[in-house]
Amino acid sequence: MVSKVVFGRGCFNQLGDILSPKRLNSKAPFIYIVDDVFKGNSWLTSRIPLSYDDKIYYISADQEPKTSQVDELVEEIILAYKERPSGIIGIGGGTIMDLAKAISIMLTNDGESKDYQGWDLVKHAAIYHVGVPTISGTGAEVSRTTVLTGPEKKLGINSDYTPFDQVVLDPELTKDVPKDQWFYTGMDCFIHCIESLNGTFLNAFSKTYGEKAYELCEELFLDNNLSDEEAQDKLMMASWHGGMSIAYSQVGVAHAMSYGLGYLLGTKHGIGNCIVFDQLEEFYPEGVALFKKMKAKHDINLPQGLCANLSDSELDIMIDVALSLEPLWENALGKHWRKTITRDKLKELYLRM
Ligand code: NAD
Ligand code: ZN
Repeated sequence: MVSKVVFGRGCFNQLGDILSPKRLNSKAPFIYIVDDVFKGNSWLTSRIPLSYDDKIYYISADQEPKTSQVDELVEEIILAYKERPSGIIGIGGGTIMDLAKAISIMLTNDGESKDYQGWDLVKHAAIYHVGVPTISGTGAEVSRTTVLTGPEKKLGINSDYTPFDQVVLDPELTKDVPKDQWFYTGMDCFIHCIESLNGTFLNAFSKTYGEKAYELCEELFLDNNLSDEEAQDKLMMASWHGGMSIAYSQVGVAHAMSYGLGYLLGTKHGIGNCIVFDQLEEFYPEGVALFKKMKAKHDINLPQGLCANLSDSELDIMIDVALSLEPLWENALGKHWRKTITRDKLKELYLRM
């Protein structure tokens, strides 16, 4: 679990106080991995506490993190400084937070990041790392994984060393998120709840968090009476609780199939989940009905026909990626999931998207 967390509008201002006791020495910098959407945004960047050799890397979130990107950044950091950094701070959405987590792991573990995609393969504790979400929904701020696209697979580095040592939850940082993106990333949280609450891995721990996040999502995506500030606060807490819920259970059909879209077509996680979930009535009837209601209320038009012109071999790649995520299918449908989830079934579903 994340060991320390602060919450509140404006708490980003405490970052300097939080970090200064963690500085190892003047030659061991804090490295900030910041979404480049904030480049030139002095409202945010003027509050990043820089001293000594501290450095900001502005990174685009247009593409989801890749293992090669992690390895390049780690190499650059190792070459630039004589000492290991005092800490890595990720400021952005799931893309940037996952990059920060992966970099902090790879600074203390040999080899390439692709070698660690999987479960519990990391050997050494990561560098101190801090997550500051600027968009809510993925739960990446709280999870024990960092999802990376590698040469062979899109899969997380799941380990006890992955979670942040400190998270700064300041809902005010989400105020300028574009509406469509707000919906897609917010729905990631809603889908986490549906997949966790309807999964066979569910237990009392996950259920408690999942139900709270579900309740918050219903309120903030369907209630007209919330102020912007209330909605930002609630979505940040929903994301946290949704992430906690899947940390102790698993996601399901939407995520398995969305990983296939992401791997082949580069479709991003939030929108990909929405495109898939829209077609999953037979697996999650109530959740999908509510999703359609939310989509209509916020006037969201999802892309259509994404897979219509794909060749059989391209469809096969997506199907392979989806089927490789066995724990997700087992959570969704139980031990005998292979009886219902055939390659033909997945092809038919993909062709509807
Ligand atoms: P993102 O980080 O990809 O960002 C989406 C867009 O929103 C980007 O264009 C970004 O620049 C913009 N943005 C972010 N904050 C903003 C702000 N305050 N104002 C204006 N624009 C802003 O989006 P995401 O949905 O948070 O993350 C998706 C990624 O998270 C994927 O790579 C996915 O694999 C990963 N993920 C990880 C976990 C986990 O547990 N580690 C869970 C789910 C998803
Ligand atoms: Zn997700």
